Amino acid sequence: MNKPPLIWTNVSLFAITFLGAAIFVPWYGILQGYGLTEWVAFVGFAFASGLSITAGYHRLWSHKTYKASSPVRFIFALGGALALQNSALHWSSDHRVHHKHVDNNDKDPYSAKMGFWYSHIGWMLREYQSQRYHDYKNVRDLQNDKIVMWQHKYYLALALLMNIVLPAFLGWLNGDILGMLLMAGLLRLVVVHHCTFFINSLAHVWGSQPYTDKNTARDNGIIALLTYGEGYHNFHHIFENDYRNGIRWWQYDPTKWLINALNWCGLAKDLRVTPQERIESAKLQMQLKRTQSRVANLTNCDEALEKLQAEYELLKSHLTDYYKAKKELLEAKRKQLASKQLMLQVEEMKQRFLAQQKNWQMLTSTYAQPIK
Ligand SMILES: [Zn+2]
Ligand SMILES: [Zn+2]
Repeated sequence: MNKPPLIWTNVSLFAITFLGAAIFVPWYGILQGYGLTEWVAFVGFAFASGLSITAGYHRLWSHKTYKASSPVRFIFALGGALALQNSALHWSSDHRVHHKHVDNNDKDPYSAKMGFWYSHIGWMLREYQSQRYHDYKNVRDLQNDKIVMWQHKYYLALALLMNIVLPAFLGWLNGDILGMLLMAGLLRLVVVHHCTFFINSLAHVWGSQPYTDKNTARDNGIIALLTYGEGYHNFHHIFENDYRNGIRWWQYDPTKWLINALNWCGLAKDLRVTPQERIESAKLQMQLKRTQSRVANLTNCDEALEKLQAEYELLKSHLTDYYKAKKELLEAKRKQLASKQLMLQVEEMKQRFLAQQKNWQMLTSTYAQPIK
């Protein structure tokens, strides 16, 4: 099969910036050295551009998981130009197609099933889906956002301003224009490019699938460290409207922390979260599925499958009852009608649920042992 023609602008951009960062950055470092200011600017620019992609392009514009005030959207638009990953409008359009047709090699713009190189960077190097390139039907809502449209219109000028003029100006203030251009400009650009590209490549091949195996997306704490918290990609693909990716407090998700901080300052609102019950159910269903396939190899598989199903049903019903009661309690509390009895009832249901969860964990872990 003939490959579509190369997009020379993209090929040159990625090749020149990569080679430049690999050759000139260390060369200048040896010759001249970098000061603390350049390193601080490198880290600052990396977080500014990376978080503009994850909190802005991704969780705000592509998925609308929260609402942000115009100053925040303006900063994300500038940070997105700094990241040099096309306009928010274009990026979000691609990304919505990715979610809708994930792993479909004909439709998903960066389908992981096309291989690591393709999903990482290859998809941008050739005219793979040129017929769709200017089709912004799936981002009509974003076309009403004046900041998105302004950034889309002046993208090239903004990208040059943010990537060259701004670092050069800071370098001039610091007395070393080239040093700053290499660190806050070039090296930072290449590092952030590949770190964010990992969300499409690495986060679809390496890690666990606790919530769903209907697509290739994976959860991986190490990838989260490189991607501003986007490494919990299995969770994200099933609950894409959630403003969080790492849902536990200890999971590294600085994008979520930023959105929370903006919310506390009154700069973001309507943060969407998936009801805990749905998250637990998805996890439970995956555990059932995995254990069922293991049990299928046992000699007494019919009996074991039956027991497994019965325990699962019981846990599921305790889960539903507990969360329903919890919701009722919250409602009652809001109306200041919460009684001691109701609270005790909820506590009892919680204990019942937890006890059954323990049974379930014991049962599934028995079947997780290697079969002799
Ligand atoms: Zn997404
Ligand atoms: Zn994905």
